[in-house]
Amino acid sequence: MALTGLEIFKLLPKTNCKKCGMPTCLAFAMQLAQKRAKLDDCPCTSEECRQTLAAAAAPPMRLIKFGSGNNQVQVGQETVMYRHEEKFYNPTVMAVSVSDKLSPEALQKRIESINALRFERVGIEIGVKAIAVVNDSGDSEAFVSVATTVKESSNLALILCSGSPEMIAAALAKTADVKPLIVGAKTNTAEAMAKIAKENNCPLAAKASSIEDLVEISEKIKVHGVEDIVLSFEEMTLSEQLRNLTMTRVLSLKKVFRPLGYPTLSILTDGDTDEQAAAATSLICKYCGIVIVDTIEPYAFLPMLTTVMNIYSDPQKPIQVEPKVYKIGEVDESSPFIFTTNFSLTYYTVESDVEASRVPCYILVIDTEGTSVLTAYSGDKLNEKAVADAMSKRSVESLVKHRKLIIPGYVAVMSGKLEEATGWEVMVGPRESSMLPKYLQEVWK
Ligand code: SF4
Repeated sequence: MALTGLEIFKLLPKTNCKKCGMPTCLAFAMQLAQKRAKLDDCPCTSEECRQTLAAAAAPPMRLIKFGSGNNQVQVGQETVMYRHEEKFYNPTVMAVSVSDKLSPEALQKRIESINALRFERVGIEIGVKAIAVVNDSGDSEAFVSVATTVKESSNLALILCSGSPEMIAAALAKTADVKPLIVGAKTNTAEAMAKIAKENNCPLAAKASSIEDLVEISEKIKVHGVEDIVLSFEEMTLSEQLRNLTMTRVLSLKKVFRPLGYPTLSILTDGDTDEQAAAATSLICKYCGIVIVDTIEPYAFLPMLTTVMNIYSDPQKPIQVEPKVYKIGEVDESSPFIFTTNFSLTYYTVESDVEASRVPCYILVIDTEGTSVLTAYSGDKLNEKAVADAMSKRSVESLVKHRKLIIPGYVAVMSGKLEEATGWEVMVGPRESSMLPKYLQEVWK
């Protein structure tokens, strides 16, 4: 939590020497509290003051990274309870479990299936980000072997799940270079796990069945020099997990309670595919930073990943596509020319309907700051000048021989002015994009 000017003032030397350019230490403290000055501007601050201010300035929830290179993922450093207050920053990492009891053939098949869990939605690729190797066998050799195979056969970040510090140490001997997340430390293993995590520079998850125990474990881990901590609740029903995750979030963000100032992790191994997908979606909505599921069914991942995508998009910034001319199908100089706005949902709806028409088509996307056709028109972001400027900028006259422009039916009122501004004949298209296939097939013969 940020310190007030008076709290900062108490930490300053109070000599009023003016070396910082301010007439008094109090004036400097006030400027610092408002972030209009830097602590370095005062050459007389003590180490204690620096450390106190640095601790106060630290985010209430720590950013945790695991994985390496292009496969590195990050969770945490969230600042708000509700998305509309600002935005959520680091999307929930979806992970899939892999048991170390699998046969080599079954293991390879499962890894391939997990690697393939990728989808494209509104032009953005979404997918599973990590594989969690679970030490079901209780056997060190099997755990190390499966962890090594996963590391070598997948580009996804690695999570090592075992209650045994010895097993974790053995697996890290082969995989520490990809910086796995270790899951996890309990009350009786916190010290040993923390030592291993520190030696291998890996983040460590604390596991407990209550907030109180989690606080105790996370403090214990921190005392042993591990700063990168993840919090995980175990032996709880879904409703208990959701309640505890919410309380953890409140305590970390609102009360700046440092022992709980870390991202969270949940492991879902019970239930069928549908139940896991439903539970995971609830956990994503209620602040879970990492969710490990057992299912590998693509149909279950699409809603889970779409939920992550939706919740972690910026509510003040609609998802947009690049304003330019898109070619749908094998276009030529006689293909129809239509325009729409750069709001992703609008564009991809129009694109799929044009594809469905099987009429190759040019789509000119106008920059309307990510708003839909009617919103853009109402806000004067979509007018005849914007369309004419976009057509000129994209040199559309060189793409087609005809001079016919199909416009969305909702902005038919623009027709006259648009014809004047562009010199093109305006053809009013359907109001609803879903009518485009019929329209294009009938009108553009
Ligand atoms: Fe006070 Fe430091 Fe500024 Fe001197 S330089 S007036 S000690 S804040």
